[in-house]
Amino acid sequence: MKKYLVGVDIGGTNMRVSIASQEKIIIKVVQKTKLEGDEHTVPNQVVSLIDIACQRAEVQKEEILALGVGTIGPFKKRNGFLYVVTANICGALAKERDVIPNNWKEIPLQKDLSEHYGNLRFDNDCVAAVNAERIFGAGQHKDNFVYVTISTGVGGGIVQDGKIIRGKNANAGHIGHIYIAEDGPQCGCGNYGDFEVLCSGLAIARDYGSKTAEEAFVAYRNKEDKAIKVIQRAARNIGRGLASVNAILDTELFIIGGGVFMNNKDILLPLIKEEFYRSFPTLSEEVEIIPSPLEDYLGDIGAFSLVIPKDWIEHWKNIKPWTTAPKPIKLN
Ligand SMILES: [Zn+2]
Repeated sequence: MKKYLVGVDIGGTNMRVSIASQEKIIIKVVQKTKLEGDEHTVPNQVVSLIDIACQRAEVQKEEILALGVGTIGPFKKRNGFLYVVTANICGALAKERDVIPNNWKEIPLQKDLSEHYGNLRFDNDCVAAVNAERIFGAGQHKDNFVYVTISTGVGGGIVQDGKIIRGKNANAGHIGHIYIAEDGPQCGCGNYGDFEVLCSGLAIARDYGSKTAEEAFVAYRNKEDKAIKVIQRAARNIGRGLASVNAILDTELFIIGGGVFMNNKDILLPLIKEEFYRSFPTLSEEVEIIPSPLEDYLGDIGAFSLVIPKDWIEHWKNIKPWTTAPKPIKLN
């Protein structure tokens, strides 16, 4: 009998695979995303991680009902399949070639996985996240909202007039690459002065001169001038970015997540709001901005939300299986 869902969350750094029954999440495994080999390396790693998770949880492949995949983007579409084309994983697209040890131009993730699994849903990770917010989080009963992640990078997923917006290549919501400033550092995408290159965790660390954004936030809490300047500027630019997104969408709600934001929301949220509500009041005054209620679990639940059977949803809203998920098993 088919009774298990597999959720796959693929990032530039880590790949996570979880398996759930209707009653609980039974296993989660995590491994560093492999970047050496040919362009099938990442899809092959997904297949092998699923095999390992199934083996350890004593799940037969025939018992898998569906597979939901939330992945780093953007995508390119060819012959009905989405190919992952990101400078974070594909060496041939990266500006500094020696950083990523491969020469991939694209990853045939959807095509390869569909050769192994019949019932497969595939989306950008922030689109999976906004879908999870719609079903289980702050987007329930809302027709217009935007999920925004402020983490190593900046990304987004959009629900508009009750529907998830995807666009021609499923790249809608890549708000990290809207232009904010005329000048500015160069983003991994090639743009100068865009949202991500001004506001991400990497941007805050770069401007403060530290290895991680977290060091800048510690210094901010110690009232260090430089950290205050850097973080205030980043937050101001986040507020402006959200105002630009809202000018196009006329949304009701921004749900913000991502590690950099969630760990420092006491600092960032008031600053972001201050700048956002300074923008054209007629458009901004009725918009809410809140932290994601699901954040710690969004990766898993986003992937599961793409394939969850309708008759599981009410039960999952009650039992919140992500809150009792087992600790992830780290694989080498
Ligand atoms: Zn960019």
